Amino acid sequence: MADRLQRYRDKRDFENTPEPGGDAGAPEAERRFVVQEHSARSMHWDLRLEHEGTLASWAVPRGIPPDPKRNHLAVRTEDHPLEYLEFHGEIPEGQYGAGTMRIFDTGTYELEKWRENEVMVVLHGERVRGRYVLFRTNGSNWMIHRMDPPEDPDREPMPEEIQPMLAKSGPLPKGDEWAYEIKWDGVRAIGYAEGGRLRLASRNAKNITPRYPELRPLGRALGTHEAILDGEIVAFGDDGRPSFERLQGRMHLTSESQVRRLSQSQPVAYVIFDLLFLDGHSLLELPYVERRERLAALELGGPVWQVPAYHRGNGPALLEASRAQRLEGIVAKRLDCPYTPGRRSSGWVKVKNVRRTDVVIGGWLKGDGGRAGRLGALAMGAYDEEGELRFVGKVGTGFTDAELKRLQGLLEPLERPDSPFSGTQPPKLTRFVEPVLVASVEYTDLTRIGTIRHPSYKGLRDDVDARQVAIDRAGVE
Ligand code: MN
Repeated sequence: MADRLQRYRDKRDFENTPEPGGDAGAPEAERRFVVQEHSARSMHWDLRLEHEGTLASWAVPRGIPPDPKRNHLAVRTEDHPLEYLEFHGEIPEGQYGAGTMRIFDTGTYELEKWRENEVMVVLHGERVRGRYVLFRTNGSNWMIHRMDPPEDPDREPMPEEIQPMLAKSGPLPKGDEWAYEIKWDGVRAIGYAEGGRLRLASRNAKNITPRYPELRPLGRALGTHEAILDGEIVAFGDDGRPSFERLQGRMHLTSESQVRRLSQSQPVAYVIFDLLFLDGHSLLELPYVERRERLAALELGGPVWQVPAYHRGNGPALLEASRAQRLEGIVAKRLDCPYTPGRRSSGWVKVKNVRRTDVVIGGWLKGDGGRAGRLGALAMGAYDEEGELRFVGKVGTGFTDAELKRLQGLLEPLERPDSPFSGTQPPKLTRFVEPVLVASVEYTDLTRIGTIRHPSYKGLRDDVDARQVAIDRAGVE
């Protein structure tokens, strides 16, 4: 036993870590196991099986698989002393395995087979139960596989992708069957959490996880839950209000060091407002209120993520409050409304204070005066119900010099000879481009046919697929 624990002891300084040294305890007749949740440099779960007087150990980065269809990598680590069955706490910085160790589950197990390369057990824990095999694949790698069917026969695998549900534009619906939420001015993000890790996808299903490293701890906060969250990534300005301009500074960053710096100095927040999948079960068919209840039960609240309240009834008062605080607007959600991925539903209705919309850039015009010969205005478009791109006006203000230069560089390679617009055409002399860039504009009014009045350019967005930019018509549902 002394020899078995030599590697364990070599790695540790028992003056400085609260972990046990392994000098006590004779083996007991009943075989015990523990699964520890170890939030170290990288999150993992440690499975330890009592065997011949020590704890045979594996680090399992994605956790003990609940499902026979998915095997998880298990890294064999050094044997640990039996006292480790009860160890939890902080391993100090600078020590081996520094971080927080929590007991995730503990119990007894039946041994079915113990070979050099294969260990077969039946675990009887509170949370981890079932027949598992650990087997060596090549070199030092092991896998853990669940052999018996999970206790819950209705378990479904977590979907790889759920398209966000979209809201229709307003008038504000009123009545007891509606709940109201603040509309957050940021970028929509679906969060997929599994095995302590979080992946964020934009509306057009791009992986945007690397852009927001400050949100990574949310994966850890969800532990072994499999969950799909819906929410908005928001950057708050110095005045405490969401700042789309500030978020712009984060959306387009590619340099890893810049991302790291800004994620510390100006962290974003993930504002979570829906829960679409939880632990093997889709919640899409559930009514909105029930999904919100399940979301609340997860008790998510952290430094950079939050689950803001929704309000039943009294929409006009919330809209007024949002206007007074100069927030973007509110969203009304019907209490019994299921989640309809990728669809613009009349069960969700947005009402904006600041009028802002997305447009597709279909061309550009040269400027005059100070901007002679260079980019002067953009020809804006949006898709109608038939999937035709309609011209909705031009925008010639709101640009900085740097942004004009950047846009010109992006537009030139997209040039095409013919117009991408159907029906009404932009002014002569418009240079047409492939309609792939999406811009965000603020405006005062929409005409009845959907032309945008007094637009001002706010920035490009690469989280929205140009094909999804739909025409908004004033007063028309
Ligand atoms: Mn560990």
